[in-house]
Amino acid sequence: MNTTATETPIALEGGNPEIASAAPPVPHRWGAAEKECLDAMLEQASLFYWGGPQTQLLTERFQKHYPLKYVMPCSSGTAAIHIAVSVLGIKPGEEVIVPPITDMGTVIGILYQQGVPVFADLGAHTYNLDPADVRRKITSKTRAILAVHLTGNPAPLRELRALADEHGLVLIEDCAQAWGARYDGQPVGTLGHIGCYSLNDFKHIGCGDGGIVATSDERFGPLLQMSGDKAYDRVHGTKTPAFLAPNYRITEPQSAVAAAQMERMTGITRRRHALGMRLSAQIADIPGVQPPEIDAKAISSFWFYLLRLEEGAFSCDRTQFVKALLAEGVVAQAGYIPMPLYQFDVFKNHHFFGGQWPVRDCGLTTMDYRKVSCPNAEATLTSCVYLRIHQGMDEAYIDGTARALRKVARHYHT
Ligand SMILES: *Cc1c(COP(=O)(O)O)cnc(C)c1O
Repeated sequence: MNTTATETPIALEGGNPEIASAAPPVPHRWGAAEKECLDAMLEQASLFYWGGPQTQLLTERFQKHYPLKYVMPCSSGTAAIHIAVSVLGIKPGEEVIVPPITDMGTVIGILYQQGVPVFADLGAHTYNLDPADVRRKITSKTRAILAVHLTGNPAPLRELRALADEHGLVLIEDCAQAWGARYDGQPVGTLGHIGCYSLNDFKHIGCGDGGIVATSDERFGPLLQMSGDKAYDRVHGTKTPAFLAPNYRITEPQSAVAAAQMERMTGITRRRHALGMRLSAQIADIPGVQPPEIDAKAISSFWFYLLRLEEGAFSCDRTQFVKALLAEGVVAQAGYIPMPLYQFDVFKNHHFFGGQWPVRDCGLTTMDYRKVSCPNAEATLTSCVYLRIHQGMDEAYIDGTARALRKVARHYHT
């Protein structure tokens, strides 16, 4: 511990907290725009998505931000990704390369299609797929790379796209945390082959639950609608399924709210990006504190702010460090998800279907999740601190957060 006479005491030890008042709340998310769509919806005879005016409006507004030809609004982000995997026509035992720190929704659809999620490691400070490790994980069975823009920070899309093109793979983007994020001047979800989005209540654009899957690729686009609607072809009005597909339909109430939310996206993301970048600039030189790496070509939506504490840099553990931040008035939490996905019981035990995993039992894969290791992902989860960022926060709160980090880091620095 580094206590000198001149050092300001941390709040945990009787000093003044850097942030005197409670963090500003998330501004109320719904207003006149949502009400207008919902009122219009109540005049409709039907709340069915196909041909529904609200779903049509949602699609048009989505396309203003994401100029993709084929758009299927659906019931969740998980559903969007399942549809994306299913339109590849993946065969049992074929592989999709995924990151190990993400929501379960990223991999659920792969497993339901009898595909095999193959975990590749992350960049140490981007928290996104490391193209070098993705390359090492490519086999003759690989069909796709599924990149997640974790925290809203765009994955290295040019490199991943080049890798996909070089090996004849499909690049799917999981943009669930990244509404409004951009890479190289383009919105995320448009640099890969298929973009997937979530509208669940916790995302910064949402409608309770919902999702969107979209593409301009002629191989996949015409299959999107059927693949989320029991393989019924609404375009041609035929109900004679040629393959197996679940019912992942959205409804008009969800679309009404989501259509209104689309109009809020640019403002919300611009604000979150500005606040996140402001924090990064102010904490960049604090010894032992490692801010996230955001590509100079990227706009992050900062769905949350993840930093890492350098191993051995502090005399306290992460729990104590976070306790000290909380005492300073910072909204912080030690860690994100408890462990990489491959360490969840369902993976370790290969208990996907009735306690079994047919593709493995039938010899279509030799994957053993007990043997998977992604060192950067594991180190990230044991060293990361999760900070809240949202559009209702102000510069004063961000600056207070930076001062608190500096003070706490100095206090505990070895
Ligand atoms: C939220 C989320 C999902 C799943 O979205 P749902 O709408 O909850 O199904 C998938 N991937 C990531 C990265 C997410 O954050």
